[in-house]
Amino acid sequence: MQISESKTHDIIIIGAGLAGLSAGLEALENDENADVAIISKVHPVRSHSGAAQGGINAAIRFDDSWKGHQYDTVKGSWFLADQDAVRVLTSEAKDAIARLDKYGALFTRNEDGTLAQRAFGGQSRNRTCFVADKTGHNLLHTLFEQAVKRNINIYWEWFVTKIVIEDGVFKGIIAFDLVKGEFYFIRGKTLVIATGGAGRVFGQSSNALINTGDGVGLAYRAGLPIEDMEFFQIHPTGLLNGILITEGARGEGGHLINKDGERFMKNYAPKYMELGPRDLVARSIHLEIREGRGINDEYVHLDLRHLGEEKITNRLPQIREIAIHFAGVDPVKEPIPIRPTVHYTMGGIDVNVDAESEIPGIFCAGECSCVSVHGANRLGGNSLLETVVFGVRAGKSALDYSKENKLHEYSDESLSTELKRLTSLLDRTKGERAAPIREDMEKTMINSFGIFRNEKLMQEGAEKVMELRERFENVIIDDKGKTYNLDLVRVLELENMLDVAHICAIGAIPRKESRGAHFREDYPEMDNDNFFKHSIVKRDGNGEAKLSYKDVTVEDIEPLSEIKY
Ligand SMILES: Cc1cc2nc3c(=O)[nH]c(=O)nc-3n(C[C@H](O)[C@H](O)[C@H](O)COP(=O)(O)OP(=O)(O)OC[C@H]3O[C@@H](n4cnc5c(N)ncnc54)[C@H](O)[C@@H]3O)c2cc1C
Repeated sequence: MQISESKTHDIIIIGAGLAGLSAGLEALENDENADVAIISKVHPVRSHSGAAQGGINAAIRFDDSWKGHQYDTVKGSWFLADQDAVRVLTSEAKDAIARLDKYGALFTRNEDGTLAQRAFGGQSRNRTCFVADKTGHNLLHTLFEQAVKRNINIYWEWFVTKIVIEDGVFKGIIAFDLVKGEFYFIRGKTLVIATGGAGRVFGQSSNALINTGDGVGLAYRAGLPIEDMEFFQIHPTGLLNGILITEGARGEGGHLINKDGERFMKNYAPKYMELGPRDLVARSIHLEIREGRGINDEYVHLDLRHLGEEKITNRLPQIREIAIHFAGVDPVKEPIPIRPTVHYTMGGIDVNVDAESEIPGIFCAGECSCVSVHGANRLGGNSLLETVVFGVRAGKSALDYSKENKLHEYSDESLSTELKRLTSLLDRTKGERAAPIREDMEKTMINSFGIFRNEKLMQEGAEKVMELRERFENVIIDDKGKTYNLDLVRVLELENMLDVAHICAIGAIPRKESRGAHFREDYPEMDNDNFFKHSIVKRDGNGEAKLSYKDVTVEDIEPLSEIKY
């Protein structure tokens, strides 16, 4: 085995989801000769962005304003989002939608030709644009077409194993081509990390199998600070197997019903009802089930029947298909059994509004980043928006950086260290397979860092994660072949997930308050005096995780000490 240096690109982007593609397109919009390469472990249109259902937010109606969107987002975040970042997100939303429209996105429209907008949780106005309930699918295909049209170099089915940084300077990445099984050093002037979420760290998840937090793992091991990783969003409505039923189903008027036939959200969010923010609705469902008002003690019902067949077929066609195929119920005739499912990674690689990380030349956007626009709880429809707004900013920043900087010399040492690591992993013949370690991690995370947390459960979980990291030291790879060695991919993904789990535990345990997705039964109140701050976890010189805190950026929205819906 060897690592060859056979490729050089000015701008390297890891990830071909909406964030990565937006970054690549923006670089080429500004300079048609920009030398951009996108690397993706799957074919671009298999990125998880393609699974997004409900829509993308923007204040575009005549009676709406980005200030309203900004306020709802900051309030929904439990005031933890940085207000400068939310200002950028919401004030640039309209242009982002116009750009997607220009690229050819097929947004659902009203009779008069204007863009249709549906209600979404925690929003005071209908401001979610959508393409039926297949928004991500359409947007991802639209951007991929644009990338193909511009001949962007895309290395798909290539897996990145390491970000090479020497003396604080970015040099390139190491990746392998899954088809050939060859390892390469790709030299670059600048890097955009756009690797998506890490929801698969938990057992019950709406995320694609590929959402394993690779970017966070790679960045953490490269010494970059990771922010607010204790906040994982749990979506209220998943099927029992975790598959998502979009918030758009409630946005179109769906009701949540317990076993007594009661619309129980009136007891938790009387004003917003089913369209309260996700953390609140998920906790309410969980409580209904825990207190014996669930059906079969396992789930509640999402009832769409009163919407009628025509509306369900036009606005929620995919939801109908998913319910029929995966739950055996036709929502036109029967309610859908649902319960909460882990959905979104609020934390990520710490970046500013220009997508800059702590290391010059390394930028980051999309779900793997923490800019922070979601704080302790993301509002539905804001994440697709984040990918296109900050993906574009990352592309522009990377292009500017690539013009001002040259390719740096690198030492062979970084390559040989990575080669040694991979070789010893592949050569090991005695040890444990990855699957049981992964299963234990998934169970531990859902039990200890799930919808309700407390000191004891989290301490136990943190210790278990440490144990799993030790077990991982002896992990073996059965497949010794080169072509499509998915066994190797699964092991490297597990390594990243274990880092994510570890960072989550380090941020969660000392946060002795409840805020958004971090809900502690032993500290049920939000505590602005002590915890109105972002957690930052960074590896020190000995490879140990160190926790520190960073102030929240406040502009003109005064943080409240209590939140009501
Ligand atoms: C089921 C579902 C429905 C959703 N619905 C909505 C919605 O309606 N509205 C909304 O706003 N948000 C929604 N979200 C969230 C939103 O879709 C995501 O946050 C967003 O699309 C993430 O985009 P991204 O570009 O950051 O990452 P992704 O689209 O996940 O792309 C990640 C890319 O990184 C690549 N990659 C990762 N690791 C490596 C590696 N080691 N080497 C090489 N390549 C790598 C992958 O191949 C992929 O191309 C939904 C999420 C889910 C799971």
